[in-house]
Amino acid sequence: MKEEVNEKNSHENVQESRNKVVIPLLQHRGVICEPLVSVGDNVKIGQMIGKVDHDLGAPVHSSVSGEVVAIKDYAHPVCGKMQSVIIEYDQNGDATKFRGNKSANTGEILSALKESGIIDLDGNSIYFKLNSGKLIDTILINLTNEGDLYSNFTSENVPGIINGLRLLLRASGASKGAFVVKKNDIQTISAIRAELGEDDNISIFQVKRVYSPTMLNLLAKEMTGMRVPITGTPADVGVLIFSAYGAMTVSEAVLEGIPPIKINVMVSGAVNQPGLKRVVVGTSFREAIESCGGYRGKPGKIIVNDIMTGTSQFTDEVPVTKATTRIVVQSEDEVLRDKTGPCIHCARCVDVCPVNILPGFIASYADIGRYDECEKLHAQSCVECGLCSMVCPSKRHLIQLIRYAKHALLKSFMVLQEKDSPNLKLGCGSCNSPCHMGAPMILAEGK
Ligand code: SF4
Ligand code: SF4
Repeated sequence: MKEEVNEKNSHENVQESRNKVVIPLLQHRGVICEPLVSVGDNVKIGQMIGKVDHDLGAPVHSSVSGEVVAIKDYAHPVCGKMQSVIIEYDQNGDATKFRGNKSANTGEILSALKESGIIDLDGNSIYFKLNSGKLIDTILINLTNEGDLYSNFTSENVPGIINGLRLLLRASGASKGAFVVKKNDIQTISAIRAELGEDDNISIFQVKRVYSPTMLNLLAKEMTGMRVPITGTPADVGVLIFSAYGAMTVSEAVLEGIPPIKINVMVSGAVNQPGLKRVVVGTSFREAIESCGGYRGKPGKIIVNDIMTGTSQFTDEVPVTKATTRIVVQSEDEVLRDKTGPCIHCARCVDVCPVNILPGFIASYADIGRYDECEKLHAQSCVECGLCSMVCPSKRHLIQLIRYAKHALLKSFMVLQEKDSPNLKLGCGSCNSPCHMGAPMILAEGK
């Protein structure tokens, strides 16, 4: 940790803002934390600085030692802006005492996961996924997602990932565990086999396609043959799916008592020295990019997590969060700015859609704010694979429009007061229990 801080401080004369980290009070799909610190407080590495008493909450921890200088809205890589704790770090490297438990029972594992606030790459709290109350038969670790694989499946992490799977099996009561790898990914298969040895409960499955964190329902169907209900999750068919990153953080949280305060981030694209960087949570994208030699050419777009399904950033001052595994930079001349044309009803988007919905129609309804129609057309089933946008000859912004619709539908089930549009009066009023439209992003005050 000290090393990381000193590395940051070596740049401190370049810009005043270099000696701070920004810790958003919401870094997952769930309920925003209340700050546990005030401006002027000194904090240690690993100290909990935000918490909320709700199953959908995930506490946040300081990644540095230093002084809280502000608690305010700040740029966020996924939510636009989010209340964040800004900490000016010092050189002391004071850390809380991390206490692991190598022989933790089910209750102790769950409690360690809850306290450490670990989340997975699908944005959900791992504690919440395990605590769904559904009967779980199988735990899968999805190793088909290249972003996760390159960032987290490093040789030194393999033992931790396997330990994480064993802990997840213990915590969930599931009888089977498996790694899902891409067909013929010999390197990954050998790395697991070499470390796993003989373990009757854990196997390796090979699949033909890549499953991103938004496509876990499809992976559950491929593995079980059972279709996950619309707006359901893999837990509905007895499966829980985690990433390599998720399994590794489970192992760190339980066996070593360390919350997620550092993360491996792959910085690629139009930067001078692309590569994998281990950074503390709260580091700005700009610092991560500069640690890779800075921009190559004039930057046109910065995308977080995945080029097809990730989110474009409006500034490079956004902080790395617990769910940032990849930063992709496109130079100005690489960014496609095609003119959008009208739909020519070619149905190519329908042909490629893996969940058999009608992307063109949903996007048209989303464009005019008819989210009620989007719901009837099952917009919520979209797994955000981006294929429809890729094949559309009219270059329509299909995935973006469908995301707006999904977000509006999710909000309409969470916030029950009067909406701007009568189409959004869909709230079910049961926000005190987990939302049946999927895990809520932020519950409205007082609901
Ligand atoms: S992004 Fe497009 S193709 Fe992919 S699931 Fe959603 S609607 Fe279907
Ligand atoms: S691919 Fe594009 S043009 Fe063709 S039907 Fe879909 S939205 Fe319309």
